[in-house]
Amino acid sequence: MNFELTNEQKQIKKAVMDFVRGEFKRDVVHDLVQKEEYPRHIWKKSSDLGLPGIAFPESFQGEGMGVLEKVLIAEELCRGDASIGSCLVYAGYGAEILLQFGSYSQKKTWLPKIACSEVLSSVAFFEPGICRLSDIRTVAEKVGNNWVVNGAKSFVINAGLLAGFYIVLCRANSAGPFPEQALNMILIETDHPGVITADGQAKMGLRMLATHDVRLDNVCVPIENLVGNEGQGYRQLMNFFNYSQLAVAAQSVGIAQGAFDRAFAYVKQRKQFGRKIIDFQISQHKLADMATDIEAARLLTYQAAWKADNGGMDARLCAMANLHATRTALAVCDETIQLLGGYGYMLEYEVERFFRDAKTVGLMEGSRHVIKNKIFDTLVGKSNHLRNRLQLKEHP
Ligand SMILES: Cc1cc2nc3c(=O)[nH]c(=O)nc-3n(C[C@H](O)[C@H](O)[C@H](O)COP(=O)(O)OP(=O)(O)OC[C@H]3O[C@@H](n4cnc5c(N)ncnc54)[C@H](O)[C@@H]3O)c2cc1C
Repeated sequence: MNFELTNEQKQIKKAVMDFVRGEFKRDVVHDLVQKEEYPRHIWKKSSDLGLPGIAFPESFQGEGMGVLEKVLIAEELCRGDASIGSCLVYAGYGAEILLQFGSYSQKKTWLPKIACSEVLSSVAFFEPGICRLSDIRTVAEKVGNNWVVNGAKSFVINAGLLAGFYIVLCRANSAGPFPEQALNMILIETDHPGVITADGQAKMGLRMLATHDVRLDNVCVPIENLVGNEGQGYRQLMNFFNYSQLAVAAQSVGIAQGAFDRAFAYVKQRKQFGRKIIDFQISQHKLADMATDIEAARLLTYQAAWKADNGGMDARLCAMANLHATRTALAVCDETIQLLGGYGYMLEYEVERFFRDAKTVGLMEGSRHVIKNKIFDTLVGKSNHLRNRLQLKEHP
């Protein structure tokens, strides 16, 4: 077993750290958070480093890298700031679905634009009030050579002016014997008539990353906008969740490390009762616990990413990395605020923002209980049972 990053991976990490140092200036971050504004200029610059298309093939103007490189980048970005970091991590949200299941024409049209920071993308899966995937109410009806889509989606990030398309999870009228077989993903350009984006919602954390409700009123798109084959939406979704849960794990490791860095710097200079706070053994033990948890979360995340790049995505590991890293980020941020005392609560010291962002990131790709359900299902072979029932093949 070799746990060393390659020289190229170390260089990528260093390049991203330099980028963060140059662009994520404290006053810039503060200003963008206060205004809840998308960091458009930083997103534009990130394409000079190849960040938005890091894992796209070179033929689509990408860098041809793998999942581990994406993880390393997400970690370093969120270590600097999770709000700007998440905006960059999610710039091509859903692009994995196009990469793996999309047609050549869909890839050729959209991936280079994402790689060059011309457009953002998003997924529109979530609907208010639904419980199971089979409850999805957004309906896609085949009419001649078109799909006519009607429904409403919530929490759609990147929605509004900057997103070029959404990948929308829909229920088709035609279905197989199982409800999951009715699910399809359809690419819908955001400027299509009938795509109605509501105002952004105010959030606790990740304030630069807008989330919107989106309504689809008789949206008519060509039949070719279907992603992959009919009835494959469930399989595509399960596959996508592995990537998205891993992205959240990487962001969480970055947030935890960023909070730790700030805690470490603070306790080295703050004096109480004639001693630096770092000289109290209780502070030393807190830091030791934090560092250990972060390293464990990082290792799980890297292992899951490494497996994805070498011989197959492991759904259980992705979920475990997500669970452990999101828990760690929240606990480390909490402890960091404690170590900073009253200053930890003040905007100026940044760590309250890390705490809020850690909480938000941990909710994005499924709540903790749902992630635990997924892990348990893999322990008892339940998800395999469902795969078999739907005659799904494992996708790399
Ligand atoms: C910042 C942000 C951005 C988002 N961006 C997008 C986006 O771009 N596109 C998109 O489609 N969606 C997006 N989402 C939606 C996100 O995927 C959902 O919010 C998330 O999956 C949780 O679902 P929920 O909100 O319905 O919570 P619920 O599932 O209703 O959970 C509520 C509570 O019930 C518990 N619970 C639920 N089911 C079970 C169970 N089976 N057993 C035990 N306990 C359970 C949960 O753990 C939780 O404590 C975003 C969410 C956030 C916060």
